[in-house]
Amino acid sequence: MSTILNYINGQMVPAKSQETLDIINPSNGKKYTTAPSSDSNDVDEAVKAAQTAFPLWSALSIDERSRYLIKIADRIEEKLDSLAIAESIDNGKPVSLARKVDIPRGAANFRFFGNAITQFASESHDMGTAINYTLRQPLGIVGCISPWNLPLYLFSWKIAPALAAGNTVIAKPSEVTPMTAFLLSEICIEIGLPPGVLNIIHGLGDRVGGPITSHPKIKAISFTGSTRVGGTIAKIAAPMFKKLSLEMGGKNPNIIFADCDYDKMLSTTVRSSFANQGQICLCGSRIYVERSLYEKFKTDFVAKTKALKVGDPLSPDTKVGATVSKVHYDKVLSYIDIAKSEGGKILCGGTAIFPEGLEDGLYIAPTIIDGLPNDCRTNQEEIFGPVVTIMPFDTDSEALQLANGTEYGLSATVWTNNLNRAHRMAKDLEAGIVWVNTWLMRDLRTPFGGVKSSGVGREGGFDALKFFTEQKNVCIDFG
Ligand code: NAD
Repeated sequence: MSTILNYINGQMVPAKSQETLDIINPSNGKKYTTAPSSDSNDVDEAVKAAQTAFPLWSALSIDERSRYLIKIADRIEEKLDSLAIAESIDNGKPVSLARKVDIPRGAANFRFFGNAITQFASESHDMGTAINYTLRQPLGIVGCISPWNLPLYLFSWKIAPALAAGNTVIAKPSEVTPMTAFLLSEICIEIGLPPGVLNIIHGLGDRVGGPITSHPKIKAISFTGSTRVGGTIAKIAAPMFKKLSLEMGGKNPNIIFADCDYDKMLSTTVRSSFANQGQICLCGSRIYVERSLYEKFKTDFVAKTKALKVGDPLSPDTKVGATVSKVHYDKVLSYIDIAKSEGGKILCGGTAIFPEGLEDGLYIAPTIIDGLPNDCRTNQEEIFGPVVTIMPFDTDSEALQLANGTEYGLSATVWTNNLNRAHRMAKDLEAGIVWVNTWLMRDLRTPFGGVKSSGVGREGGFDALKFFTEQKNVCIDFG
């Protein structure tokens, strides 16, 4: 595996300090490469390059910028297989998932925003004898900071609209999963992206993310990650009056009514609970089931979950791979202990797994817990692993109260065939995204983000292009 390097001013370079971080393959617990452990000196270098590149990049025609993004999308698609394997090794996710979701979606993000910018228009307001029109201009240099759970997918979800809108970018992938961001820099060189337009800096959160957040020349921060780090970023960036988009943690409810389409609900709920080892911000981790269906659901859900194949992420029939890092693995296992101490009953899973030949890998059996109240830590705090709780409810209003009863509000899923109930629940759920009778169905034009402690601002579609531009109203009096 190649040694990972920073991508600054069109060049692949090590950290100025020459320091590196070990990058671990979570499927076997072994170091497989290194990445630069950068610091503020590398960020400064990247900002200089981005500053030099900005006048040229922002002055390109929309069609020219669009073409660069589409070329990146094409190249990602050409490299689908190798990128999927790289993502799986780096993150521990099943290669089948990376091939079907992560990498195609990385390409789709570049293609979508490459096309969306050609359709992005601004408003005008006619006053009779005067006209107002609104210019939407790029911000300048922007910072994009992303997490480890969907590495290329979420990295590209920020970079693509930022570039499309005419900004130059300083981007930081998670230090836990840097590989596909590095491979993206190779792609940018291959397609001839002008130097300095995109700069990718690897390293730790406080040593790289911190200097990006506080750099006076970086005008906006688009962050996806934990609520804790989002708060730290806001404390630094808000007094500097930077634009901020924060996509943060979740504790998403999955509400199942007895009148739902049972088979579709059951198979989707297995997916929404354990896909990517439960490490998708949109996974439903609190499952509320109407009491009349509770026992049947419990039996079937446990049986289907026990049948999931846990093991080598590179094996094509693996459904649940390794959790991403030792720190995270320990955190998830500690929450299973917390659940037990709170009186939870482990219906399946509840332990680490040691597949033959991969005994040092970070595997956790998909875990279902019942018997816990809504206000316990297990049901209030984000675990972000293959652990879900199930709880019965009796009425619509009780379901709503339970679902809304956390500090988070990213997404919610409702299963019912009652049209009125579906609309009522969708309206009253405190979440940025509600799915009815489906999960993770995404149209990239729609607003994406959370409420309460899950987020500030919206990504996706024109919302992302609006975030990455500044409006200027021009009023012309011709009376
Ligand atoms: P994290 O907050 O620990 O790290 C996210 C990124 O921030 C990483 O690149 C990290 O290096 C960087 N960072 C850390 N400290 C920083 C600092 N002081 N200043 C600037 N940057 C810093 O999150 P994680 O563990 O990588 O990812 C898991 C979290 O992400 C979960 O909470 C999950 O819910 C959330 N997430 C949210 C969404 C969403 O769309 N709302 C999507 C995916 C993941």
